[in-house]
Amino acid sequence: MIPSDIIAKKRNGEELKSNDLSWFITKYLENYISDAQMSALLMAIYFNGMTEKELLILVEEMINSGKLIKFEKSDFFIADKHSTGGIGDKTSIILAPIMAAAGIRIPMIAGRGLEYTGGTIDKLEAIPGINVTPSLNTFKSWVENIGCAIISQSKDICPADNKIYALRNQTATVPSIPIICSSIMSKKIAEGIMGLVMDIKVGNGAFMKTKNSAFKLSQLIKKVAISYGLKIDIIYSDMNQPLGRYAGLGCEIKEAVDCLQGNGPQDLMTNTFELCSYLLIQAGKSKNKQESKEIFDRIIGTGKGFELFQKMIFNQNGCLKQFEKNTIPRFEKIIRSNKNGTINYMDTEKIGWSLVGLGCGSKNKLEKLDYTAGIEFFVKPGDVIKKGSPVYRLFNTNSKKLDLTSKLLSSTIRVYE
Ligand code: URA
Repeated sequence: MIPSDIIAKKRNGEELKSNDLSWFITKYLENYISDAQMSALLMAIYFNGMTEKELLILVEEMINSGKLIKFEKSDFFIADKHSTGGIGDKTSIILAPIMAAAGIRIPMIAGRGLEYTGGTIDKLEAIPGINVTPSLNTFKSWVENIGCAIISQSKDICPADNKIYALRNQTATVPSIPIICSSIMSKKIAEGIMGLVMDIKVGNGAFMKTKNSAFKLSQLIKKVAISYGLKIDIIYSDMNQPLGRYAGLGCEIKEAVDCLQGNGPQDLMTNTFELCSYLLIQAGKSKNKQESKEIFDRIIGTGKGFELFQKMIFNQNGCLKQFEKNTIPRFEKIIRSNKNGTINYMDTEKIGWSLVGLGCGSKNKLEKLDYTAGIEFFVKPGDVIKKGSPVYRLFNTNSKKLDLTSKLLSSTIRVYE
């Protein structure tokens, strides 16, 4: 087979066959097919889409690129949550221990930052020592012992997504519905779960900018989930503003801890609860939202969720004591409103790029992350603000990046007088 023939087929709008996709992925993982060739295929998919048949084949090939996790038969419901990506979205880090405390097993495979959206794995790596690439057996034993673990794709688990994901981040090929669907669903199916709840972000800071595109993605995700026998629920959540009070790396772990200790901001707690509620119902632990709320509040109120979070980090070799010391930023700057009025728009994608500029994401392979970096948000759309009041506090450990980013960030809100 010739790689450029397969790329040309997709470029010309033809349907790829099972052999084409299987060979292309296998040879990419063997380094016979180059990053340039895979990027060209991704761009052709970006422009021409995929048929449902192609998508199902792609998902299967991506799952089969690595090992499938199989949990022994037990009474535990095994499930997971995934989001399509946003700004300030640290919900997975809060949800996993809460669900484990409720008796649901969560073997979560998460991703790194993609373009301007933050990645759960990058945030967790702000915790010194944390292991997010264990062997498959170690991962299984963590989940079986305490109920949850959060790891990354690796050479063993979803290697195709691992390699393609990093490439997409550098080649402007992320916001394609079939590529996002295959990336998410290959990871989730490889986890050996029975149920899934999806958080599809919609808005100016999401990959799905419109309700229509979010709906299309959700239909495909549903189709794939059902074809693998998974229980599936989907929520749509607003990404026309960052989620919570902070976005960044270490600061998002701290905010997740606030949530687990009962001090989280309302939007973030509501988002986490909605997702938890669906999983509790799928698992037969509650009959409706009201019962779910009682369970959710009890787990947070008794400190069980935070306890599970500490256990999860300890299991994964992370050191929370060191984390505090390692994530103190050296520089900060406050951006203030230049007029009185009402915040009527936040350019959330631009806020995401500002986070990348501060050091929370990488634009190329060489760039190192700054775990101290992030933004604190003092306002939300609809808030009334006075001239001179703070809008953002940005912080990191690189003053040049801080200065450059503050200019971009200053242009992200619109205030109507
Ligand atoms: N999360 C993923 O795992 N993959 C995507 O493409 C987007 C969000």
